[in-house]
Amino acid sequence: MTIPPSAAKKSKVLIIGATGFIGQFITQAALDAGKTTYLLNRSIPKFPANEKDMKLKAFEDQGAIILHGSIADQEFTEKLLKVHEIDIVISAVGGATILDQLSLIIAIKNVGTIKRFLPSEFGHDVDRANPVEPGLTMYKEKRKVRRLIEELGIPFTNICCNSIASWPYHHNTHPSQLLPPLDQFHIYGDGSVKAYFVAGSDIGKLTIKAAEDIRTINKNVHFRPQCNYLNMNELASLWENKIGRFLPRVFVSETHLLAAAAEKKIPESIVASLTHDIFINGCQINFEIDGTNDVEVSILHPHESFRTMDECFHEFLLKMEKNKNIEHQNSAANHVD
Ligand code: NDP
Repeated sequence: MTIPPSAAKKSKVLIIGATGFIGQFITQAALDAGKTTYLLNRSIPKFPANEKDMKLKAFEDQGAIILHGSIADQEFTEKLLKVHEIDIVISAVGGATILDQLSLIIAIKNVGTIKRFLPSEFGHDVDRANPVEPGLTMYKEKRKVRRLIEELGIPFTNICCNSIASWPYHHNTHPSQLLPPLDQFHIYGDGSVKAYFVAGSDIGKLTIKAAEDIRTINKNVHFRPQCNYLNMNELASLWENKIGRFLPRVFVSETHLLAAAAEKKIPESIVASLTHDIFINGCQINFEIDGTNDVEVSILHPHESFRTMDECFHEFLLKMEKNKNIEHQNSAANHVD
């Protein structure tokens, strides 16, 4: 017997880290897809409200249910999962608290009714990539999380979405919040190693689809959009086309990136080590997706289109023009004759 969609029980999704950089895209996608969306927020709301509080309020206005607490508290999480009858758990905790997920995983195991867990991955395949330190420590933590999930037999999906669509600054964890350069480009190595760039909204949308897809149970889902398979020289030309002028290209050597990683400034050095792994080692492209545990997202959704880097750079251009207009208005308002 087929259950009509209206009668089928709607999944309840719990998202951890909704106020974070990646978590906001996943949350928006869950709400856009009409999921019953619970958000776990560990920070105490501030007065006056800060940026994170305002983000949460905007999600709440769209129907999200806000819960307060930390996944580091196993007993609390276990209770929360049971009381709210959560079906799917998506974690987007940041690099500093990857190991907080160990308590969450035990809570998920104890509850026993969670249909899928998506741990905080959202980058490279951490079992295949081997960055230098301090990126390696974060990867070791993500591997530890993977091993516990496997050991406890929790149904999982690892999202390996590669790079966020933006200029890849080697010292900034959230590069898509920054405009691409306007003075000069830093090109890593000779700028010929390719990578995959994915817009945050596509990461969110395809993560939510993967969370309920039977084909992605216990798999790594790799994001390799052919339209955004670019090297740094190509990325630079794309941005030059947008701004209508050429910028000098300064080549940043492997040695320089390794030195920035060796400084062990957190989080900047983590980004430097991952930048080295992407644009020198080619960690996103030096393996085939052929394992029984791997699937490429375009195979799952052949008709799904990705936002292109050209579109993303156009958005940056509009942002730049808007900023310029605001500056212009401010200076006109401050001008005294
Ligand atoms: P952020 O640091 O921006 O956000 C983390 C979120 O998790 C915050 O909302 C934070 O809350 C919350 N959080 C952290 N610990 C806990 C806890 N114990 N209980 C409840 N909530 C918690 O993270 P990012 O978005 O930078 O990183 C998320 C994932 O994405 C990571 O795995 C990271 O490696 C990856 N990433 C991938 C990128 C790419 O280009 N592919 C780029 C950046 C990240 P609070 O506000 O209280 O701190």
